[in-house]
Amino acid sequence: MKPWDLFVIGAGSGGVRAARMAAANGLTVAVAEESALGGTCVNVGCVPKKLFYYGSHFAEGMHDAQQYGWDVSIHGFDWQVMRRKKDAEIERLNGIYQRLLENSSVTILNGRARILDKHRVEVNGEVHHFKHLLIATGGRPYVPNFPGSEHVITSNEAFYLDQLPGRVAVVGGGYIAVEFAGIFNGCGAETHLVYRGDQLLRGFDSDVRDQVTRQVATKGVNLHLNSDIERLEKSPDGFDIHFKTGEPLHVDLVMYATGRRPYTEDLGLENVKVLKHPDGTLQTDQYYRTDEPSIYAIGDVIGGMELTPIALAEAMVLVHNLQLGDAQQAQWKTLDYSNIPTAVFCQPNVATVGLTEEAARHHHKIKVFCSDFRAMKHTLTDNSERTFMKLIVCAESDRVLGAHMVGPEAGELIQGIAIAIRAGATKAVFDSTIGIHPTAAEEFVTMRSVTRQDK
Ligand code: FAD
Ligand code: NDP
Repeated sequence: MKPWDLFVIGAGSGGVRAARMAAANGLTVAVAEESALGGTCVNVGCVPKKLFYYGSHFAEGMHDAQQYGWDVSIHGFDWQVMRRKKDAEIERLNGIYQRLLENSSVTILNGRARILDKHRVEVNGEVHHFKHLLIATGGRPYVPNFPGSEHVITSNEAFYLDQLPGRVAVVGGGYIAVEFAGIFNGCGAETHLVYRGDQLLRGFDSDVRDQVTRQVATKGVNLHLNSDIERLEKSPDGFDIHFKTGEPLHVDLVMYATGRRPYTEDLGLENVKVLKHPDGTLQTDQYYRTDEPSIYAIGDVIGGMELTPIALAEAMVLVHNLQLGDAQQAQWKTLDYSNIPTAVFCQPNVATVGLTEEAARHHHKIKVFCSDFRAMKHTLTDNSERTFMKLIVCAESDRVLGAHMVGPEAGELIQGIAIAIRAGATKAVFDSTIGIHPTAAEEFVTMRSVTRQDK
C-alpha cells in the first residue's frame, strides 16, 4: 500500500483544518476519527455551549422587555426543546464536516488510531503507512479523585442532560465553570458555583476577575468561594456536598469543570520517540515537530491556550511548512502567540486581548484607563448589570498593551480592538478615532482620565 503523505489522528478543529489544507495542496491525506467529526468544538465545546448560552439569556431579556412596556409573561422553559434543536444542529454540522473533508479528497477512517511505529498506524485492525503523521487528539475533562467523584458529570455530559436540574453545583472557577453556571442559572436552575479560590477566572486581569465575581453573584448564582470539597454522598433525592469547612450543600447534580488533560491514552506513543511534558502535553518545537521526525502535533494536545482558533492557526502553519519541505526551511513560518484575543461567555461576557495590568507592569511603566458604567439599555430597566472597560497603556511608548471588557457582546467588540493592538496602535490613535454613538464601544475611544499611573 502506498504511504499517505499525511495521516491525521483526530478530526477536531486542528485535524480537520490540517487535513483539508494539505489535501487542497495536493497531498494524499487520511484522517482517523473515533467519535464525531468536528471534535470538541463542534460536538461538546464552543458550538453547543454558545447555543445553550443564547438559550439561557432570554429570561433576562424578557424581564428587561417588560420594563420597556412589553406585555410578556413567561410560562416556563423546556430544556428538551433546546437540547433537541441543539442536537439537530450538531448533526447538521457533522454532515458539513464530512462533506468538507470528502470534497477535499481526504479519506475519512471511522475508528480509533494507534501508532505502530514511525511510519505505520493501525485503525480498525488495518495497517496504514505514512510519510508524516499529525497527532491532533485534543483533550478530555479532568476530574480530581475524591470520595464520591464517580457521581459527578463533566461538560461532556452536561450537553446531553435529559432535563434541567432543579439545583446544580458547578465546581471550578475557569472558562467552563463560569459559562455553565451562567447557562444553568439563566435557564432557571438554582445554581451554585463552588470554587477553591477567592476570585473567578485566574489568569485574567484582576479588575476583570473582581467584576466577574461580583456580577455573576448579582445575576443570581450562589457563589461558594474559598471552598474545597471533601466528599460527595448520594442521597435518595440527589447529592450532599461536604466541604472541608462549613455546612453541606444539597443538590440534584454536580458538574466538575476543573480543567482538561491531553488525550493520548492508548495512542501507541511508546512505539515512537514522541516525548511528553510533565503535565502530559506533547513536546514539540516551534514547527510542531515532535522528537520523532515523521510525527507532528498541534492543538489542545500540545497545551498552551486551548482555543479553536489556535488549533486552526497551528494547522495552517504546519501545512505551509510541510508543503515547502525540508529543502526550503528558510521560508517556514511560526505562529505569533502574542496578543491572542479570547472571550468567556459568562453572563455578562468577558473578552480580553494583550497584557493584564499585572503582566504589563513586569516589563513597562504603565498608565491604566478604566470605565465602569451602566449601559444605556438598562437606564429604563431595573437590571443592575454593569459594563467595564479597561486599557493598559505603556507610559513611555503610548502603545496600548492590553484591552479588557466585561459586558454584553464583549467578544464581538474586543475582536476589533485586537486588530488595532496587533497593528501596534497607540493610545493617541485610539483617542483620535471617532466613536460610534450611542454605543458602549465608543467608551474605548473616549477614555481620557488616567485611573492609575506608575511613577
Ligand atoms: P479536538 O477538537 O478535541 O479534536 C480531537 C479529536 O481527536 C476528537 O474528535 C477525538 O475524538 C479524536 N481522537 C482522539 N484520539 C483519537 C484516536 N486515537 N483515534 C481517532 N480519533 C481520536 N474554544 C474556543 O475558541 N471558543 C469557545 O467558545 C470554546 N468553548 C469551549 C467549551 C467547552 C465546553 C470546551 C470543552 C472547550 C471549548 N473550547 C472553546 C476549546 C476548543 O473546543 C478546543 O480548543 C478545540 O476543540 C481543540 O481542537 P483540537 O483539534 O486540538 O482537538
Ligand atoms: P480552566 O483551566 O479554565 O479552569 C479550571 C478550573 O478548575 C480553575 O478554576 C481551577 O482552579 C479549578 N481546578 C483545577 N483543579 C482543581 C481541583 N483539583 N479542585 C478544585 N478546583 C480545581 O479549565 P476549564 O475546564 O474551565 O476549561 C478548559 C479549557 O477549555 C480552558 O482553559 C479554555 O482554554 C478552553 N475553553 C475555552 C472557552 C472559550 O474560549 N470561551 C470556553 C470553555 C473552555 P485555579 O484557578 O485555582 O487553578
